[in-house]
Amino acid sequence: MIARAMSTQTPASTVFPLQMAKKNARWRGEIALSSFARLGELLAANGPVAVDLRFTLTDGGICQVVGSARVNARFECQSCLELVPGEVVVTIDFRVVGSEQQAHETAHSAEPFLLEGDVVSVAELIEDDLLLSLPTRGCDPSAPCPNRPGYRYAAPDEGDRSKTETTNPFAVLSQLKQRDD
Ligand SMILES: [Zn+2]
Repeated sequence: MIARAMSTQTPASTVFPLQMAKKNARWRGEIALSSFARLGELLAANGPVAVDLRFTLTDGGICQVVGSARVNARFECQSCLELVPGEVVVTIDFRVVGSEQQAHETAHSAEPFLLEGDVVSVAELIEDDLLLSLPTRGCDPSAPCPNRPGYRYAAPDEGDRSKTETTNPFAVLSQLKQRDD
């Protein structure tokens, strides 16, 4: 009896990193957001996370994992608290080590992933990298948050200061002071 029909499009979501590294294997697939223990709570998205990983051996015989993961999601802007759509693209580059000592030896040259045993889910393997790469703001971080309540763009030409700064009490004070002068 066949235990369960496996999808032919999505590979099994568990991997044997060292075995795959010895074969220079590649893992590509999509992982449902629900497979991630912590990520799902932080992302307003239905997933999935698109993953592309290559497993190779270093000269020292350690499994190196290089690749990318991307997910479309909506992020809560820390300024306006609105959900703003965006894509997270994470560059993956770490080494799978089998002991604390090996992790310590690896840490100076590459990010170690400590794996007890020889099998791990892809979600577990990349979840930390995804968590660390989440934007802390939904709105464009290089620009003032356009959704913030009460936010006003300053006019490019602030020739008439009385119009652009009327909401700032200190500006009003400075105007009064200028008139006194
Ligand atoms: Zn915002």
